[in-house]
Amino acid sequence: MRIARFVHPGSPSAPSGVAWGAVEGPPNAPAERLTVAAITEHPFGPIAFTGDRWALADVRLLAPILPSKVVAIGKNYVDHVKEMGGDAAPTIPVIFLKPSTSVIGTSDVIRLPATSERVDFEAELAIVIGRPGKDITRENAMSYVLGYTCANDVTARDQQQSDGQWARAKGYDSFCPIGPWIETVLDPTDLQITARVNGELRQDSRTSLMVHDIPALIAFMSSVMTLLPGDVILTGTPAGVGPIRDGDRVDVEIEGIGTLSNPVQAKK
Ligand code: MG
Repeated sequence: MRIARFVHPGSPSAPSGVAWGAVEGPPNAPAERLTVAAITEHPFGPIAFTGDRWALADVRLLAPILPSKVVAIGKNYVDHVKEMGGDAAPTIPVIFLKPSTSVIGTSDVIRLPATSERVDFEAELAIVIGRPGKDITRENAMSYVLGYTCANDVTARDQQQSDGQWARAKGYDSFCPIGPWIETVLDPTDLQITARVNGELRQDSRTSLMVHDIPALIAFMSSVMTLLPGDVILTGTPAGVGPIRDGDRVDVEIEGIGTLSNPVQAKK
């Protein structure tokens, strides 16, 4: 099931507002053939439908989830470690947080801060957690997953290098696009992941090349902090990262999920 969160125009039984819903239509159908069927309340338990349905074109997609935290891993693809000047990925995962206020949805604008000379895109597979967990074992890890979405770990590269820690470089408002929706039925172990800037292919890899796989990441991160429903785990970026500039458009596409597309604007 593809779970979206969106602003809808209302119906005879519901005023316009924000809802979660299931995106319906063939997996590779163009957006104009897709519809969204609203669900009651939230996607963390049994799904019930309200009966309201709109064309996807008639709703505005939002970030599919509002996480209490976004936990991310650095250096989880060897080819990206090398392009950053390293030799090998760390044995113990290097994790960091992105604030919930950095999250935006597809079509929302990535705003480049005036304080940075170099802001990069980073295409990543995002895990959305479905239920609370602490000290989750590798064996049980997948039962804590609600689904998967596309993410862009936008990074002020100059500040990441100059600050010595990553909170500022990774934490600006709009620096965590996720979407367009959460795919709940997906084998994440070997998916193509790409990034395009203005249509030009810049990253092209597979999730099978992660150093620490998804069960390992969930186990490790939950050994540090309790994971809550809706929390998002970013699984690292492959090689090919590069700068984005005012007027660009970045598309992160993951096989079996869809495309997260964001325009880029300099903050005025
Ligand atoms: Mg990253």
